[in-house]
Amino acid sequence: MTLTAQDHDILKRAASNGRERWAVIGGGMLGMTLALRLAQKGCDVALFEAAEQCGGLASAWQLGEVTWDRHYHVTLLSDTELRALLAELGLEQELTWATTRTGFYTGGKLYSMSNTLEFLRFPPLNLLGKLRLGATIFYASRVKDWQKLEKVLVADWLRRWSGARTFEKIWLPLLRAKLGEAYKKTSAAFIWATIARMYAARRTGLKKEMFGYVAGGYARVLQRFAEKLAREGVELNMRHAVKSITPSYDDRLQVEFENGRVEAFDHVVVTAPAPIASRICPSLSPKEKTQLQSIQYLGIMCASLLLKKPLADYYVTNITDPGLPFTAVIEMSALVERKQFNGNALVYLPKYVSPEDPIFAKSDREIEAEFLQGLERMYPRFKREEVLSFRVSRARQVFALTTLNYSQQLPSMIASVPGLYIVNSAHIVNGTLNVNETVQLAERAAAMMTAPLPATHS
Ligand SMILES: Cc1cc2nc3c(=O)[nH]c(=O)nc-3n(C[C@H](O)[C@H](O)[C@H](O)COP(=O)(O)OP(=O)(O)OC[C@H]3O[C@@H](n4cnc5c(N)ncnc54)[C@H](O)[C@@H]3O)c2cc1C
Repeated sequence: MTLTAQDHDILKRAASNGRERWAVIGGGMLGMTLALRLAQKGCDVALFEAAEQCGGLASAWQLGEVTWDRHYHVTLLSDTELRALLAELGLEQELTWATTRTGFYTGGKLYSMSNTLEFLRFPPLNLLGKLRLGATIFYASRVKDWQKLEKVLVADWLRRWSGARTFEKIWLPLLRAKLGEAYKKTSAAFIWATIARMYAARRTGLKKEMFGYVAGGYARVLQRFAEKLAREGVELNMRHAVKSITPSYDDRLQVEFENGRVEAFDHVVVTAPAPIASRICPSLSPKEKTQLQSIQYLGIMCASLLLKKPLADYYVTNITDPGLPFTAVIEMSALVERKQFNGNALVYLPKYVSPEDPIFAKSDREIEAEFLQGLERMYPRFKREEVLSFRVSRARQVFALTTLNYSQQLPSMIASVPGLYIVNSAHIVNGTLNVNETVQLAERAAAMMTAPLPATHS
């Protein structure tokens, strides 16, 4: 009889009496939540993060004298898993909730699209177009079998339900804003998941959706999280980029780090994006490597600006006009009290791009010049002298594109190498990328890894 990797794992866990040594690679919200749950189940856990601090995409940085998230983050009232985690960290009570306004920049003008009346007045669409747009969103919110939508391209699906005009005027610019040209290979499951998040409040029985944040932003959440992990006995190792994970002679996994450290573990969980996972795990089967390498990612170039004054006080301004260097404007200070930013306004200018986009070669100065020019075009009252600080964050692998039949091509979280697991945000198959989904994935994966051992016959 041939034993599978899972059988090996079960035998190993049985032999070690439950006190196996686990390594979690990647200290983002996924790795941290996994490490917490494994430690709470009695495992001996060490977490390894390549960067100087934990948090990954949710980490914080310094913008002038303000410390806030490198990428904009809000929590929704309906983010039940994340809120439960925050409660465990003693921070749930400190969430501040607010309703925010949404803007639309179209035809060279800025419109508010924050309620039904404003939607009905919205000029780019006639009444029929608006009805079809509303009906598409309503229909998508009712679809239960999202797997069916994986078989259809998002552009075809939206064109069919909303009509050609509404598609060209609204959906296409929005798809381009979020997916770049990769919208052409993305399935309709993407828009289903996006709309499902919009309607999540209803699903969880709440009357309306609100946005929230913890005072101090993710810097505070991550600090509390790191303290909690240390209390639970997790060994935290920053500046530990993993070079390779290979089976060792004693049936364990040898982890080699870029800084020269080498250590063996009974189990290793890799939470880094798929291309990195494929590179650092050379013993994976050719099929697993192909599966990991076929996952297509979208990256981001995201500028943070600390301004003396707000721009227009919409939390999100969607852009449908071509020619602007960024794809949306996020005014964090339309949600977060300005005293968190020393009385200033905090704005993010994201541009979602493919990991190979030439924009990644541009210097911060070039990006700053282009982005400020874009702001001047959109907000005639905006002055460059109002910019107190400007920083650019670059991330090549932010989220996996839900291409056609995506969920059927994903590699299993249990690798063919005994003791090795690969779990990352690409395993979020019926949701958008957000911390709530990330925490949910971690909970699911940790439960699978620590499931009770099957009873054996004596
Ligand atoms: C622009 C933007 C806006 C967002 N807005 C929101 C929002 O409003 N609300 C919300 O809930 N979510 C939001 N998110 C999503 C949220 O940030 C993610 O869901 C979450 O941070 C993903 O965590 P992760 O651990 O899966 O991945 P990551 O954060 O990418 O963590 C992976 C970690 O692995 C480390 N790593 C990689 N390679 C190695 C190696 N070889 N050795 C060791 N470590 C390694 C990396 O340094 C990184 O820290 C946003 C994300 C972005 C980019």
